[in-house]
Amino acid sequence: MINRNSRNTLRFLTRFHHHQHNPSSQFTSKTVFDENCKQLKRNVLPTENKAFNFFNPLTNFFKNKQLGHGISCGILQKCYYGSMGGAVQRSSRFSELNDDDVRYFEEILGKKNVVQDEDKLSVANIDWMHKYKGSSKLILQPCNTDQVSQILKYCNSRCLAVVPRGGNTGLVGGSVPVFDEVIVSLSSMNNIISFDKVSGILVCEAGCILENIMSFLDNEGFIMPLDLGAKGSCQIGGNVSTNAGGLRLVRYGSLHGNVLGVEAVLANGTVLDMLKTLRKDNTGYDLKHLFIGSEGSLGIVTKVSILTPPKLSSVNVALLACKDYSCCQKLLQEAKRKLGEILSAFEFLDGQSNGFGYKSPGRCSESTFYFTS
Ligand SMILES: Cc1cc2nc3c(=O)[nH]c(=O)nc-3n(C[C@H](O)[C@H](O)[C@H](O)COP(=O)(O)OP(=O)(O)OC[C@H]3O[C@@H](n4cnc5c(N)ncnc54)[C@H](O)[C@@H]3O)c2cc1C
Repeated sequence: MINRNSRNTLRFLTRFHHHQHNPSSQFTSKTVFDENCKQLKRNVLPTENKAFNFFNPLTNFFKNKQLGHGISCGILQKCYYGSMGGAVQRSSRFSELNDDDVRYFEEILGKKNVVQDEDKLSVANIDWMHKYKGSSKLILQPCNTDQVSQILKYCNSRCLAVVPRGGNTGLVGGSVPVFDEVIVSLSSMNNIISFDKVSGILVCEAGCILENIMSFLDNEGFIMPLDLGAKGSCQIGGNVSTNAGGLRLVRYGSLHGNVLGVEAVLANGTVLDMLKTLRKDNTGYDLKHLFIGSEGSLGIVTKVSILTPPKLSSVNVALLACKDYSCCQKLLQEAKRKLGEILSAFEFLDGQSNGFGYKSPGRCSESTFYFTS
């Protein structure tokens, strides 16, 4: 989640430049952090704290010190605010979009893929949590890798800032412009390229919506190794770029293990073809790992190859109640010991989460923690 800070390697992503003001200080100095926050207010919608608290019932744990290992709410908040970066000002090194730019993009993408419609822009300038607001004036919708390459090459030569956009379900505002960056949306690159039933390896474009890939695989007798609540909107390119974990991580591991290759376009338009479909590959440096979790800071992911497991013949869910946290830990140990690799997920919610509409079974109502596994 704090990757929003980590994007200062490439010139073309403005968010990075605006944040390059010694990001580490945000985590060490409360004073600097408070001062930075004041300056950030203009970029952040006022409901942010409320939204954060709503989404993250874990805050309650920290506040109540139920975990009891020195993890204080202060640290959590510091990271959270710190993740919004330092004193943010638009760098004058970046050009402003002009009519010639728009004409160029229309030539390479066609008019319908160059979006300036105000309604669409106002939606695109706000993140899923409604915490951050940008002021982009242009959305570009490339249909293939070559178009992505041409866009980035041009933006780099004109020093136009760019922000890559997947399904815009990220929870830290990474896909929302800080200022007037050009939004490059991958939504039109949504083709499944190949699927090998013998190896279970799928190759697809980065704009494929996760749920669509899951439906495709379901028909083939396979599943995706990751599943998450945002599956109806998030894209596989966004999942890879955020190194999303999801509900199946305990069983199938992270995307660093499941993604076998990516194709990505660098800031200067160079296409990096690392789209391998070989599971065991010892040849040299494995550069694709740099793109997993890089949140667009190294380039735009355009294609992904991923290892998919066969569909399970049955899935069982158990809801268990525990009286305290050490009991939860014992339960996890036992679950791992007894269920081994078939344990897919182990999640807990606290008693206060009942207030979010979850009704506990009568006999468990006194318990502090509930588990699903
Ligand atoms: C209801 C809900 C449940 C969630 N559950 C989980 C969960 O269980 N586990 C978890 O880890 N996360 C979870 N998330 C957050 C998760 O990271 C994102 O939902 C998802 O991975 C982001 O995909 P996206 O296509 O929406 O990306 P976006 O939000 O559009 O973008 C996210 C970041 O990736 C960059 N990006 C997007 N596409 C590309 C690309 N093709 N190339 C380069 N950069 C790109 C963007 O610039 C941005 O920095 C959840 C979110 C929601 C809303």
